[in-house]
Amino acid sequence: MAQKYVYLFSEGNADMRELLGGKGANLAEMTNIGLPVPQGFTITTEACTKYYEDGRTINDDIMAEIMQYVDKMEEINGKKFGDLNNPLLVSVRSGARASMPGMMDTILNLGLNDDVVAAMIQGNPDPNFERFVYDCYRRFIQMFSDVVMEVGKKYFEELIDKMKAEKGITFDVELTAADLKELAEQFKAEYKKQIGADFPSDPKVQLYEAIRAVFRSWDNPRANVYRRDNDIPYSWGTAVNVMPMVFGNLNNNSGTGVAFTRDPATGENKLMGEFLVNAQGEDVVAGVRTPMKITEMEEKFPEAYADFVSVCEKLEKHYRDMQDMEFTVENGKLYMLQCRSGKRTAQAALKIACDLVDEGMRTEQEAVLMIDPRNLDTLLHPQFDAKSLKAATPLGKGLGASPGAACGKIVFTADDAESWNAKGEKVVLVRLETSPEDITGMKAAQGILTVRGGMTSHAAVVARGMGTCCVSGCGDIKMDEANKKFELAGETFVEGDYISIDGSTGNIYKGIIPTVDAEIAGEFGRIMEWADKYRTLKVRTNADTPRDAKKARELGAEGIGLCRTEHMFFEAERIAAFREMICADTVEEREAALDKILPYQQGDFEKLYEALEGCPVTIRFLDPPLHEFVPTEEADIKALADAQGKSVEDIKALIASLHEFNPMMGHRGCRLTVTYPEIAKMQTKAVIRAAIATKKAHADWNIVPEIMIPLVGEVKELKFVKDVVVATADAEIAAAGIDLKYEVGTMIEIPRAALTADDIAKEAEFFCFGTNDLTQMTFGFSRDDAGKFLGAYYDQKIYESDPFAKLDQTGVGKLMEMAVTLGKKVRPEMHCGICGEHGGDPVSVEFCHKIGLNYVSCSPFRVPIARLAAAQAAIKG
Ligand code: PEP
Ligand code: MG
Repeated sequence: MAQKYVYLFSEGNADMRELLGGKGANLAEMTNIGLPVPQGFTITTEACTKYYEDGRTINDDIMAEIMQYVDKMEEINGKKFGDLNNPLLVSVRSGARASMPGMMDTILNLGLNDDVVAAMIQGNPDPNFERFVYDCYRRFIQMFSDVVMEVGKKYFEELIDKMKAEKGITFDVELTAADLKELAEQFKAEYKKQIGADFPSDPKVQLYEAIRAVFRSWDNPRANVYRRDNDIPYSWGTAVNVMPMVFGNLNNNSGTGVAFTRDPATGENKLMGEFLVNAQGEDVVAGVRTPMKITEMEEKFPEAYADFVSVCEKLEKHYRDMQDMEFTVENGKLYMLQCRSGKRTAQAALKIACDLVDEGMRTEQEAVLMIDPRNLDTLLHPQFDAKSLKAATPLGKGLGASPGAACGKIVFTADDAESWNAKGEKVVLVRLETSPEDITGMKAAQGILTVRGGMTSHAAVVARGMGTCCVSGCGDIKMDEANKKFELAGETFVEGDYISIDGSTGNIYKGIIPTVDAEIAGEFGRIMEWADKYRTLKVRTNADTPRDAKKARELGAEGIGLCRTEHMFFEAERIAAFREMICADTVEEREAALDKILPYQQGDFEKLYEALEGCPVTIRFLDPPLHEFVPTEEADIKALADAQGKSVEDIKALIASLHEFNPMMGHRGCRLTVTYPEIAKMQTKAVIRAAIATKKAHADWNIVPEIMIPLVGEVKELKFVKDVVVATADAEIAAAGIDLKYEVGTMIEIPRAALTADDIAKEAEFFCFGTNDLTQMTFGFSRDDAGKFLGAYYDQKIYESDPFAKLDQTGVGKLMEMAVTLGKKVRPEMHCGICGEHGGDPVSVEFCHKIGLNYVSCSPFRVPIARLAAAQAAIKG
């Protein structure tokens, strides 16, 4: 049988998301459970993939199949495209497997042309109806031109503005039927001017072009950015939904709305949403008019409201999750246009998951799977300091659209947000309203404040998705975007002024309000408890200071997976001694310098052991090339020369001699110990002495120091370093007359180490994957410079994500899996972990679980994210 590319809503179901996209699958499911959905069809994601395979064309077979479904749709609805008695008008909407709000294109009112318009008006003498038809028509021409033919909105907006100026009116609603008719003519003329052809009057041609445009929009820049940020593969493609129009803008007995079955900001179990009388869906989402609360709908549309409430109950029970719905009321009758699992803030996600467990709708495991680990980030970020907040008086209030606290300098454009952020400034983006083009600027901002728009406006939806604080719809702001200033409560704010906004309460404050860290409690604590119950992968932290180690402990770290000891060398006295070590001419001089550092280092390690309360601590020996430690300022060079009794020229010559063309592949890691064993000796003494001291202070803690040798590529070099470590450690332990076990392991961060992991395991008692270097050396990309060209790789779809942030499972992952297998064959009891940046990335954590690592190690604030991701991996497995 030939492949099927088109499905009626009545042919699909919720499980067909991959094929029908989220929207299509849910329209099918709503149809199946008997909800009022205008009956149309879905063109599959595979048709989209085929469109790209065929060089961005819809082939004749697929087009013929679509036309068959147009016939079926016409029959089901008793209306026909282009028919003068009973014309069919449709919407054409994108719908990918994962929801990507506002990122792709939509066309409404398709099927209108001069004849249909004239016939519709003739059939209904109500003058308001005539106005309605012309309003639809001019909207359609505008949308089709903009979205399908890429003419650009501005030409049409200019025409509207010109007409309003001529008529001396302010609002679109003041335009009469005659005005709108005239506008439609002007729009068609504009279309012809821009495109060089008449506006297509055949609805089937319109449909073909619209479907093509939706497929094409899968590849638009904002969709590409959104996908990269949300781990959505390019290969998925989007489905297209073609659905008969219902008209919320028909009259005052009609309207359109967006609602959530629970509050998407707080998770509270109450219906939440917005409704606009006499409007089409785009008006709500665009945030141009501020809508009424959904509950107010009850007064004006009692029947439709009652129906809607019962639909909400049905949908929640059916999906066992909070739903986000779009609906329209046409002449008092309710139609469902969309439902999906609603995007929600991290706070709301936790509350909803816990509530669903308490309501008996979900198991603990399911609740754990419902939370996107990346969203926890927002909860771990600072909130306003309660005391300062209490003392502050808000200047104004908008809607608390995405929680969290933001404080920064005001900017007025998305571009400025990006460029100021690149300069290291914290900014708050203040806009009349945001649009999808603003996405990168929104990402760069600490917070977003908009004058217009409700809880479901673009700004609100996107900010919640990104976990960025957002206050929307503050109508009290008198905005002057052109001159980059605004007024609020009699105060004038200009670019660069400080502002603080609270995305939970919607409050807006002048100036700076200090922020404080958040803590894991309440529902957050409950979910983390469940996560810990189901995960098998341990979570450690990368921490070099007692402060970070303590924070990580609070956030649930079960050990330190990586302490980068070089970070401990930069304080004033230590760096001086370390520089002496570098400049020393003899082993004795070097040892003398290192002896000065030893007590500091031992003290650091003791504090780390204390902070970790007996949990394992892996100390990695000195790693970076020595030139990173030498002075660059003239005064510092002079000071070093004086301390060494050398001339400035001598020191400069020495510094020059440390220069390397490829320092990341140079004299660093274990290579330093091969040339200067004294460094490893000093670090071993510090580790063992600290462990002994801690053991004495805490007899009940099982202190087993883990010494980790970096940048090993050959077992003999590891053996050389290990011999130095073991001789030193054993001597220390013997001198102390104490029983202390310790382990010497290695990082696996050079491809050769992974390839020869069985040999390496003969010496290494544990492996820890340094996937930063392993990625660098596997790809041959500098980890410091890859950003300069990765953008081009994304544009060309060669890579979809940054391999330094998201583990390359295909290449680097293969090396890891191989190393674990080879290593455990030789030493079955050995533990394996990861301490590169990938250890805190949820998708990478899942991979680490699959290949049998014992732990992941990540920065303190990512510990809860890794705990949750590890639990999800275990539950899915
Ligand atoms: C690594 O290479 O992944 C690693 C953790 O070490 P560093 O980042 O210090 O080179
Ligand atoms: Mg490394």
